[in-house]
Amino acid sequence: MSGGVVYRRVRVKGAFTKSGLPEFDYSINPYFGCEFACVYCYARKYFLAKGVGYEWGSYVEIKVNLPEVAAEELRRIPRGSSVGIGVSTDPYQPAEARERVTRRLLEAIAGRKGLEISIQTKSPLVLRDADLIASAPRVDVGFTVLTLDRGLARAIEPRAPSPRSRLRAAAALSRMGVETWVFIGPVLPYITDDEETIREVVEASCSAGVRRIYVDNLRFRPGVRESMLRFLREWDEGLYRKYATLGREGIARSYRAAVEVARRVAREWGVELENVGYPA
Ligand code: SF4
Repeated sequence: MSGGVVYRRVRVKGAFTKSGLPEFDYSINPYFGCEFACVYCYARKYFLAKGVGYEWGSYVEIKVNLPEVAAEELRRIPRGSSVGIGVSTDPYQPAEARERVTRRLLEAIAGRKGLEISIQTKSPLVLRDADLIASAPRVDVGFTVLTLDRGLARAIEPRAPSPRSRLRAAAALSRMGVETWVFIGPVLPYITDDEETIREVVEASCSAGVRRIYVDNLRFRPGVRESMLRFLREWDEGLYRKYATLGREGIARSYRAAVEVARRVAREWGVELENVGYPA
């Protein structure tokens, strides 16, 4: 246990999982659980389903043998497959600094020609592996950024590194020739969907040299809904009341307005924008 987080080292039998996301053929998660504890994180649904008995963000399983298992499974993965690392966990959360599961995983699979690897993180710790990433045939790195407001980020992503430190990491990787992108998701209605917030994030991302920006809407489903309401009840009574009655229409309206701003600003910078949420 460290900083109120319980860690458990586990051995896994499988590494690659068929991905449910349209962007990837497979996903690999070096950890189960995530110390960053974002209030909007949809991955808590897997956590709740497993019933580990801890709060999201306070329990992390370290998949110590994942790199070896992945290397073994690699033989059966068809050439040209795309793999997302860190779809349900952050591969560069604090445990990675000492456990190096993600680094060993990259050592095991990043050199494989014909494999497209996409890493998504909120941490500049990814720079530790810049040597491996920059020399791999096909690895890109994405950073999730919802807002540049440090206080707001601290509230909604309690233990994640600051948004600006993520963008500095994106800029450093971009300068090394690594393909980088930013994921603005989920857009939070009434919280991060205003024009100024979206414009700031898109401008700062473009100026960091990212090639693409993705925008995604809030999935206000069981698990996320309770988490957001619990957080807002303490944080802002007015927002709590708005979220208590928030429905698909409200989320879609807010999201489409955010996409519209993001698209306009990205176009000014000549950067590609991908809308991965509701049609907008
Ligand atoms: S960093 Fe990603 S995986 Fe971790 S809690 Fe936040 S949204 Fe979830």
